[in-house]
Amino acid sequence: MNSHTIQRVEIWPIDVPITDPFVVATGARVTAQNLFMRVTLRDGTQGIGEAAPFPEVGGEDRASCLAVATGLAPTLIGQSAAEHQAIADKLSEEAPLYPAARCGLETAMLDAYSRSLRIPLWQLWGSVDVRDRETNITIPICDLDKTLELTQSWYAKGFRLFKMKVGKDVEEDIRRLETVHYTLPNIAFIGDGNQGFSREDCLLFAAGVKKFGGRLVLLEQPVIRDDLEGLQAIRHLTGVPVAADESVRSLDDARQVARMHAADYINIKIMKTGVAEALRIATFARSAGMRLMVGGMVETRVAMGCSFSLVLGVGGIDVLDLDTPLLLSTDPVKGGYRYTGPVLHPWHGAGLDMQVFCPEDRVSVQ
Ligand SMILES: [Mg+2]
Repeated sequence: MNSHTIQRVEIWPIDVPITDPFVVATGARVTAQNLFMRVTLRDGTQGIGEAAPFPEVGGEDRASCLAVATGLAPTLIGQSAAEHQAIADKLSEEAPLYPAARCGLETAMLDAYSRSLRIPLWQLWGSVDVRDRETNITIPICDLDKTLELTQSWYAKGFRLFKMKVGKDVEEDIRRLETVHYTLPNIAFIGDGNQGFSREDCLLFAAGVKKFGGRLVLLEQPVIRDDLEGLQAIRHLTGVPVAADESVRSLDDARQVARMHAADYINIKIMKTGVAEALRIATFARSAGMRLMVGGMVETRVAMGCSFSLVLGVGGIDVLDLDTPLLLSTDPVKGGYRYTGPVLHPWHGAGLDMQVFCPEDRVSVQ
């Protein structure tokens, strides 16, 4: 027993409405149905974490996520939070298919530990790149009028990099980007197919955008996750950098993508892999000469603060897709990092430096 010994784990649901329905090629969301978690150490320090299950991507829903996180909580009790990496590995062994549940517990443990050390979470990972950073903004699949309304309103707030969800109807996708391109000056696009394109449709899409002079800086997961040959072909045939997202749900997946030269970027997301594994993927990707982007599911600033900590602490992450708190109609979190338009500002308080409301009605394991 020491001051970092984990004494209690608490878990409760949090519902946050999404301002505009979040539609991607594989699914849709109108409310973020997530879980908050809180870890209490022997010295009384508390840390918070979040699980954001996205059933169509990770196969977890909130009910299964809550059941699994509750079942995993005893694994943390009595352990020192200083052993966060070993604990994370144990959680992975126990619940390999529930990364969001594990991520919530890991984040709460890391927040508590760094708070107890009185350092920001990013300092735990090295403080390599502590500065303001800009995020893209996601535009869901929607009709032309809505696409214009959303892009114009984000543009007015300073956003210039639009991550367009595409992959359902290639002609319509091209038309949407073209209309935005001719309406708003000095912008760039990421096309995120969420596995929805065939190889041929993706080539049509890239050619269509090139034809009207659109600046397509990244093609994210255009084709189905197992089609690494398809990703590789798209890289070479379009000349546009490709990011592997759904294709990389573990370090082994990242190794496979590197071996196949299937992507320029890996999109790391703590909700896909847990936090410790995301760190390993980041280290590996850089050693393999690949570039990094970071994204999330539909998350509040709790989970996204942990991902921003990776950006600040580990460094070398070029593309930030850390926008989902801006897509929510309320912010259930106080403190922590701040947004000004597309810019994320680092914080300097301990841990994530955030406070959340903890309801009476919650699961408690001690
Ligand atoms: Mg994606």
